[in-house]
Amino acid sequence: MFKTAMTELFGVRHPIIQSGMQRVATAELVAAVANAGALGFLSALTQPSPTDLKNEIEKTQQLTDQPFGVNLTLLPTQQPVDYEGYARVIAQSGVRVVETAGRSPEALMPLFHAAGIKVIHKCTSVKHALKAEKLGCAAITIDGFEAAGHPGEQDVPSLVLVPRAVDQLSVPVIACGGFADGRGLIAALALGACGIAMGTRFMATEEAPVHPALKQVLIEAGEADTQLILRSFRNTARVYRNDVAVKVAQQEAVAGTQFSNIAAWVSGAKGAEVLASGDLSQGIFWTGISQGLISDAPSVSQLVERIIAQALASQRAIQSKVESDC
Ligand code: NAD
Repeated sequence: MFKTAMTELFGVRHPIIQSGMQRVATAELVAAVANAGALGFLSALTQPSPTDLKNEIEKTQQLTDQPFGVNLTLLPTQQPVDYEGYARVIAQSGVRVVETAGRSPEALMPLFHAAGIKVIHKCTSVKHALKAEKLGCAAITIDGFEAAGHPGEQDVPSLVLVPRAVDQLSVPVIACGGFADGRGLIAALALGACGIAMGTRFMATEEAPVHPALKQVLIEAGEADTQLILRSFRNTARVYRNDVAVKVAQQEAVAGTQFSNIAAWVSGAKGAEVLASGDLSQGIFWTGISQGLISDAPSVSQLVERIIAQALASQRAIQSKVESDC
């Protein structure tokens, strides 16, 4: 067992977070993560309206009595989003922790704090992490360049970004980007983080609500099989390198390309079709470099137990290596 600032702060057994993946982090997955002793986050924007989010939170509460949180992503969207409406529902739901990402959560902090909610801000640079700390965030998740979703514009991998954040922040730091197993957990703790956050690894689990064909894609994918898109709009996204992602990147390389030229290909609605059908020709599929470390799709509880056992074994292996080398 690992007792860290993260497990203490959020009252969970293991220093492992399941990130709030759009259209993947629903009640079944999040409750399974919570029941396994890790901290899962529902994705607020996966729900079409604040009322749907309220229902999804209640469904999760019926499936687990363990702590879980809600992710509220503040990034560009094709359709307007009622962020305040979602935030109000979260504040009234009894949820104790929120993961914000994308833009600064400043405008929402008074609402969350008044409700006694701890905020973890997920960001991709130390500069933004320091600002979030000043706003009163309880912890920071720092996304290395390896991460799926939106890994930022600075391309600094976790091996450097995590200790840079740890050195400059006073609040606990959670490492994200490139983590999928117990070796990664031990490495993150060695870098000074108090836990890891994973998205892609949790997508290849029995409980993840994605088509089995996509779990097989993750099992077969190599670490080099992701693609950066939306870079020309300063909204870089890492996705699985399918034909659609390559087509988007090629179009972005054409001078004068506007977001409207690629909007249909990257749309969340098309992404939803991919997740439901397993048909990769329908749109983009969000994955991180850690896909190269995935070789099966166990249950969430098997995965979490395995990561902890592997981390303890790594710890012992390091100790005996140090002793035998001396
Ligand atoms: P969507 O259909 O609204 O947009 C698809 C993608 O295009 C998203 O990455 C979005 O940020 C980007 N986008 C939209 N308008 C843009 C613009 N004018 N300029 C540049 N980029 C633009 O998105 P969705 O799939 O319905 O997702 C809803 C929200 O969840 C978005 O904010 C999206 O970024 C976010 N999301 C986050 C992750 C992640 O980080 N893990 C993964 C998927 C989606």
